[in-house]
Amino acid sequence: MRDDAPNSWESRADAYSLYGFTDLPSIVERGAVVLTHGKGPYVFDVHGRQYLDANSGLWNMVAGFDHPGLTQAAKDQYDKFPGYHAFFGRMSDQTVMLSEKLVEVSPFERGRVFYTNSGSEANDTMVKMLWFLAGAEGKPQRRKIITRVNSYHGVTAVSASMTGKPYNSVFGLPLPGFIHVGCPHYWRFGKDGETEEQFTARMAAELEARIIMEGPDTIAGFFAEPVMGAGGVVVPSKGYFQAIQPVLKRYGIPLIADEVITGFGRTGNTWGCQTFDFMPDAIISSKNITAGFFPMGAVILGPDLADRIQAAAEAVEEFPHGFTASGHPVGCAIALKAIDVVMNEGLAENVRTLTPKFQAGMEYLAQNPNIGEWRGVGLMGALEAVKDKATKTPFPGTLSVSERIANTCTDHGLICRPLGQAIVLCPPFICTEAHLDELFNKLGDALKQVFAEVA
Ligand SMILES: *Cc1c(COP(=O)(O)O)cnc(C)c1O
Repeated sequence: MRDDAPNSWESRADAYSLYGFTDLPSIVERGAVVLTHGKGPYVFDVHGRQYLDANSGLWNMVAGFDHPGLTQAAKDQYDKFPGYHAFFGRMSDQTVMLSEKLVEVSPFERGRVFYTNSGSEANDTMVKMLWFLAGAEGKPQRRKIITRVNSYHGVTAVSASMTGKPYNSVFGLPLPGFIHVGCPHYWRFGKDGETEEQFTARMAAELEARIIMEGPDTIAGFFAEPVMGAGGVVVPSKGYFQAIQPVLKRYGIPLIADEVITGFGRTGNTWGCQTFDFMPDAIISSKNITAGFFPMGAVILGPDLADRIQAAAEAVEEFPHGFTASGHPVGCAIALKAIDVVMNEGLAENVRTLTPKFQAGMEYLAQNPNIGEWRGVGLMGALEAVKDKATKTPFPGTLSVSERIANTCTDHGLICRPLGQAIVLCPPFICTEAHLDELFNKLGDALKQVFAEVA
């Protein structure tokens, strides 16, 4: 598989790269896949092999890898004004226009926007805003942040502390004051005999009990992805947000929707909070905001938080926070174009058109005796591998089943992602029905091959 010559791309990548979030035994055996370019939903490696990228890069390349309008928007803005910051009361015209646009397409009547370079920094920024607010409003003890087990909010020290994954223990994280409550995945965490409604009610009751135990006046905010993405596409149990939001309201705890994946159409509506019918106090956006053509994150504050944080800033004459490239004019120009492309060039519509076929494909593959569950919403989904479907018993971790499935897919020209024992799918919004056929044919073959080896 890998080219072991010392000057091969694989050897050069090995020699000089510290691989992040990469299964190193797979690298030793197979080498890195070094890519040169893309076309539509396909990417191409240095050996000329073509792959259908069923993960849209990392959820973000929703308009594919060569969208002419997006590259043109980038080129035009580089020609006009290639970079500027947003400090000291200066910012680019593109930045002003994008903030206006983001509030317009948000579920909020009005609001304010703050830019970062990534989703992690956007969550980090939101936490600092809540801490800033707590201090300004005379409640400096309101510092704890609640998130959920299995959630993913990023990798900075704060956003990794918010992330509810066990791997962060290698960093000695989470930091104190970051609390993880139950994950609303009914299939996995529902108790014997518990209905989905009872499960949802238990999630809300456990949240309330935890808030009371911690002291309601010590909690700064609650963050949730409308659908957990990197947790393995966990669609919340029925009525989840309707059950937890009143609990949070009762104790004056803001609900922040981390829409880094679910934003801009992935779930079939512009925002995941619209699909799941709740109104957050703020939205965290990144990934799709530029269709992956530029690194950018944004905090979009709804009216209440916008007013309170603005007042807190006025009280000390400054909100002392910002990144050098916050509101970068090229990123903002690309984001403006990306929002236009997704919302007005038929991409959002295409997500809704393709969803039934996408879900039918997963449902079909879930007939396999070693697929325990398919789950998903819009164009995001996962298939969960199990050793025993009836008891939901996973395969032994040492078999690396999901890695094997993903590696077998790669061998057949399909990129998909192993996550725990699940395979995650989130194809670009520009896909056609033929692309979905290719996806499910290749994935179906890989499942057969790997389960024959391990079952
Ligand atoms: C990817 C992701 C982040 C982190 O974004 P980065 O740009 O990788 O820092 C945060 N939240 C969610 C829900 C994500 O999927």
